[in-house]
Amino acid sequence: MSVSPARLAAISAANNYRTTNTVAFKESHSAALYGKNVFNDKVMQARLPKAVYRSLKKTIDTGAPLDGSTADIVATAIKDWALERGATHYSHVFQPLTGLTAEKHDSFLEPDGKGGAIAEFSGKQLIQGEPDASSFPSGGIRATFEARGYTAWDVTSNCYLVENANGVTLCIPTAFVSWTGEVLDHKTPILRSMKALDEQARRILKLFGHTNIPMITATAGPEQEYFLIDRNFYLSRPDLLSAGRTLFGAKPPKGQEFEDQYFGVIPDRVLAYMHECEAEMYKLGIPIKTRHNEVAPSQYEIAPIYENANVAADHQQLTMITLKRIARKYGLECLLHEKPFAGVNGSGKHLNWSLGNSAQGNLLDPGSTPHENMQFLVFCAAVIRAVHRHAGLLRAVVASASNDHRLGANEAPPAIISIFLGEQLADVFEQLKKGKAKSSKKAGTMHLGVDSLPVLPKDAGDRNRTSPFAFTGNKFEYRAVAANQSIGAPLSALNTIVAESLDYIATKLEKAKGKKFEDAVADVLTEIATEHSAVIFNGNGYSEEWHQEAARRGLPNLKTTVEAVPVIAAKQTVAAYEKYGVLTRRELEARLEIAYEQYCKHIKVEANLVTEMATTKYLPAAIRYQTVLADNVASLKAAGIPADAKLLEKVSGLIADLQAELGKLSDLRAIHPDTLAKEAAHYCHEVLPQLVAIRKIVDSLETVCPDDSWPVPTYEEMLFIK
Ligand code: ADP
Ligand code: MG
Repeated sequence: MSVSPARLAAISAANNYRTTNTVAFKESHSAALYGKNVFNDKVMQARLPKAVYRSLKKTIDTGAPLDGSTADIVATAIKDWALERGATHYSHVFQPLTGLTAEKHDSFLEPDGKGGAIAEFSGKQLIQGEPDASSFPSGGIRATFEARGYTAWDVTSNCYLVENANGVTLCIPTAFVSWTGEVLDHKTPILRSMKALDEQARRILKLFGHTNIPMITATAGPEQEYFLIDRNFYLSRPDLLSAGRTLFGAKPPKGQEFEDQYFGVIPDRVLAYMHECEAEMYKLGIPIKTRHNEVAPSQYEIAPIYENANVAADHQQLTMITLKRIARKYGLECLLHEKPFAGVNGSGKHLNWSLGNSAQGNLLDPGSTPHENMQFLVFCAAVIRAVHRHAGLLRAVVASASNDHRLGANEAPPAIISIFLGEQLADVFEQLKKGKAKSSKKAGTMHLGVDSLPVLPKDAGDRNRTSPFAFTGNKFEYRAVAANQSIGAPLSALNTIVAESLDYIATKLEKAKGKKFEDAVADVLTEIATEHSAVIFNGNGYSEEWHQEAARRGLPNLKTTVEAVPVIAAKQTVAAYEKYGVLTRRELEARLEIAYEQYCKHIKVEANLVTEMATTKYLPAAIRYQTVLADNVASLKAAGIPADAKLLEKVSGLIADLQAELGKLSDLRAIHPDTLAKEAAHYCHEVLPQLVAIRKIVDSLETVCPDDSWPVPTYEEMLFIK
């Protein structure tokens, strides 16, 4: 029997895995590791002169401009700290519009002119970098002959050290702009939109009589879903290697129907991996909290405690990098694609979002009687209005070729953006339509019928997994975000549109001079509840009825990226982003162009892979089997034994179909529409369905061809050998 080498290697890896002690939590407690590699507040305080520390802290806490003279002193302190820990290089880290993290390393060493070298790091080197930026997507903002790009130190996100077996690098979080000042990254809009949110939320808090109002920040806690498979499989699947997802693969005998994976016992190798990931993330000051098995076989989740949204976005990028990096040490590959396997659940990134500060606390905390909590209701109403007005935008900023496979499938929220409020709040907003709200449904307690078990306090509303945007107690959970994307664009969209609605409400309240404040608030709430409750939906978002109901309510249903992304540069988006200085029309148009480009490139690579794999792997395997079958029929006939040619006919039929469909794909690929938008539509509506048609034939072949000669690992192997 010959069996695929990848399978044998993976079986051996899974079987022979022995726990090796790579993290020593027993010797150094997780609390001791936490923040070890971060130039954090504690280190700053210890290492900086008092005045410099105070000046830096003021910038971090209040957004005040950085005092130029402090930079050199801070740079020296950071350098000394980093060198003591073995750093040889520093790097301005930024988030270009590829959605990935970019880094360019420079050594600290400078020749001293006497044949030696000294370690140098000036304030200027800390504050500003100049990577040659010609190869990052700019959406036409920059021609390659004006390739200059600048990175600028983000004081509000701490510098940190990245350790490698052979050395240490000092990483400096930065924003990235073109030399004409146009924004080319995901961080700048986050920072600008957070500033807008602070300004508008502050107006509301002032109206409610607060006088001490520290900076209000957006907070974010992104839950990350991912798959882990044995790396032997990954390396023998060109589609996983180059597209991040399987483009072929017959349905395995067992999928996720037993619901035996969700919250199941975590396999030993995976748990060891998680421990090491967490140890690494603790050192970087990433507050990882939760880990568990997810719904699909070999799918898992990791979630942090929430933080300032800008810092959370940086930490999220580091989380993805760490998950991928450490996996290899365990012979595993971490798949962050939204739909690596057809037929089982895909991966998302639930972006939990709220806003608040150290004095007024979480502004989306309803308390136990939300109907009386006017301040909460104003903030909640602002979110409702924002999401209703910009539902299309919230769909557009999570749109990608890969997330299209997940949104609207059976396990993920639909492409229609609506809000789940829960029973209690939905009831309060119903009351608000008619005037002031008079009551809040009580949460109550639950008795379990056994005295030794505690009486449980009940939440005021159940959960709803089918909603793309759900209120979950004291925050909103934006569930349509893609597993593989930076949370930058979704975050800045949310911040910007909520700032716009807070501005709208604050302006109304400030103008309502003759009225009692309480009545003015009640009027605005009634207006918003009446005009915007179409976006509130507490039912089953997966159901067909919802699609019809949503259409009646006039909610956009932007099924694919091609339909969704134009909203990025639509009039209403430009108006909001320009008003709050988040992005200009030109920058938004550039983002739209990049979205189209990325979409086309993704599907093009998938089409390349389908052609390559079908032509060089599946067809040869099928033809070999066809020959075996034909020889068999001929031999039987020669021996005078009745021969059944049905299987031969079936295989021959599939081979002919495969060749015909590959021909069609090649014809479709010869068509080149003249605009990017049309090209994206062509890929979406013509090329992609053709890839599915080809997959169907190959998957049928997989179910009849001999297992021992099938050229790539199967779903059964990849999902269950662990
Ligand atoms: P659930 O299980 O309902 O999703 P969790 O308490 O596990 O709720 O929280 C999920 C995520 O939401 C975590 O990352 C958590 O830090 C985050 N979160 C909690 N409160 C806030 C908040 N005020 N702002 C942003 N994120 C939050
Ligand atoms: Mg959650």
